[in-house]
Amino acid sequence: MTPKPGAAAPQRGHHFLWWLALCTAGLAGLVAGMLALQIRQSQDLENSWQIKGDSVTALAFQFEREFLRLRHAVEVASHAPTPEHLEHLGLRYNIFLSRKTLLEDNPSTQIIKDRHEYQVLLPQLEKFVVMAGPVLGATLPLQKQLEGLFQELQAMGPSVQALSFSATSVTASLIENNQHTIREQSQTIQHLTLLQLVLLLLAAVALWIRHQRMDKERLALEILAQELREAHQKAEAASEGKSRFLANMSHELRTPFNGMLGMLSMLESTALTGQQHDWLRTARESAQHLLALLNDILDISSMESGKLKLKPEVLNLKDLLSETDALMQVGANSKGLSFVVSMAPETPEWVIADKTRLRQILFNLISNGIKFTDKGHVTLNVAVDEPDRNDARLARLKITVTDTGIGMDEQMMGRLFERFYQVESGTNRRFGGAGLGLEISRTLARMMDGDLTVTSALGKGSVFTLLLPLPMGKAPADSGQPPTPSPSLESVSTHSAPPKHLTPVATRRILVAEDHPVNRKVMAALLGKLNVQVTFCENGQQAVEAVSAEPFDLVFMDIHMPVMDGLAATRSIRQSGKDHQSLPIIALTADVMNDAHEKAMQAGVNEFLTKPIRLPELQQAIARWAPVQD
Ligand code: ADP
Repeated sequence: MTPKPGAAAPQRGHHFLWWLALCTAGLAGLVAGMLALQIRQSQDLENSWQIKGDSVTALAFQFEREFLRLRHAVEVASHAPTPEHLEHLGLRYNIFLSRKTLLEDNPSTQIIKDRHEYQVLLPQLEKFVVMAGPVLGATLPLQKQLEGLFQELQAMGPSVQALSFSATSVTASLIENNQHTIREQSQTIQHLTLLQLVLLLLAAVALWIRHQRMDKERLALEILAQELREAHQKAEAASEGKSRFLANMSHELRTPFNGMLGMLSMLESTALTGQQHDWLRTARESAQHLLALLNDILDISSMESGKLKLKPEVLNLKDLLSETDALMQVGANSKGLSFVVSMAPETPEWVIADKTRLRQILFNLISNGIKFTDKGHVTLNVAVDEPDRNDARLARLKITVTDTGIGMDEQMMGRLFERFYQVESGTNRRFGGAGLGLEISRTLARMMDGDLTVTSALGKGSVFTLLLPLPMGKAPADSGQPPTPSPSLESVSTHSAPPKHLTPVATRRILVAEDHPVNRKVMAALLGKLNVQVTFCENGQQAVEAVSAEPFDLVFMDIHMPVMDGLAATRSIRQSGKDHQSLPIIALTADVMNDAHEKAMQAGVNEFLTKPIRLPELQQAIARWAPVQD
């Protein structure tokens, strides 16, 4: 397996940050260390200046100089003790004493106090001071006494000199020590600076590597994004192609279905033997089954591409239930099952919903109930779950389909709404089906802001619950007319109202625009049973001409036709005169995909019917739009 390009990136980024943090911390430590060293160094320099300026050497030398001056003055005075010499001697002695005090008390002399030379000299000095005090304090000191002092000073001479040397050497070694320390510190600072440089270099290299890596990653991401864009475009093109293919296939498949079912229903009304009737029924059921499969596949496909749109209209729930009852009763009875439909009294009669899709969900649930039940009953119940607190105009319908059939266990239920899933599969299948019905039903329920759930027990039966929050509709003023939608809902579509003024003739004149010969044959056969007068034309252009040439009560208009299609023909008829604006036009097409319904309604048709058309539907449409007046 090749690693994904971006997978290791966060890990690497993490490492890099650790390194960078470490380098920064190291640098900060180094800078702090260097600062401390520099403070120390400047203190040491200060100290060494102090050593120099205030140095013990200077004190020792000054002391020695004063000592020599005093000795000289004593010598001079001992030879000629004149008052000037004695006065000069007194002055020298006082200066000498002050130098002695400095030697003893100045803090800088602290460093030589434990030296041998100091220890030797100090008692000698004390002794001299004891001797000199009375002699020099006398007004006229004796020459002999002065000579004695001179000898004493002579004797002290080497010690004083030794102290000076000692002070010099102590200072020199102190300065040397200090310089040594400063040198060491300088070296340490150099090392630290070097280290800092290395760390800075490392950080720079790390940043550079990181930059390179990010560049690479960005490039890889750009390539990936480009690939994704291309893949997306390809997928879109493929999906577009698939939609087109499905639309074409749908149209192409519906046309022969129309022919097949139409002809079968014609055959049914001829004189046939019992067995022939049976064969015919099987043929019709097979064709209808195939058609149902085709519809399911098309539904799934348009749900996937997001093209399936709901068409809400005001509908009568009671009517829908009786229609369902009538249709499903046959299947249930043929299996010996009872099928019961009920509606709770508080249920609103008029709601707004996509009738075709709601009917589709109900039919699917009920036919499953009948299919998977061998004995007992199947029920359909409609009630209101609980009032919607947020919107009083919404009825939360709870529609339950209950059966006493084979049921399912937890595991089966968990996978129930998966595409193509069937509880029984493989060679032991007892029931037919594509495994699409429940997925379609639940998707439709969710598109209606509702949901479809199931509870079931193996061997006992199942309960499918369809919860639908549906807007309540208003009962139309005239019940013979199609209901008017609630004004609050804009996207509601209804049939246009049927015409009020009709030609008072018993036989309805019907124009059928249809290019396909099989479909024309089917329409001829079906309409032939309905006591109507039929005119056929083969394209939109001919239809427009026919309508302007003679009066018709109703037009069945195919959409896809050569020369002029049904939509253009409808628009042209609508614009061709006042009479033609109210002429009922019913779109009859095999195109159930790609907004065909919307387009037809926008073009001005009154109703949209799809092929294959069956006799009852045709009959109802004629009764709706061109009823025979008494
Ligand atoms: P199918 O066309 O195969 O019936 P559905 O999607 O309608 O597809 O159902 C999928 C599967 O769910 C069925 O094949 C069946 O195994 C199970 N199923 C559906 N309804 C019932 C039910 N009322 N009782 C028992 N099993 C059911």
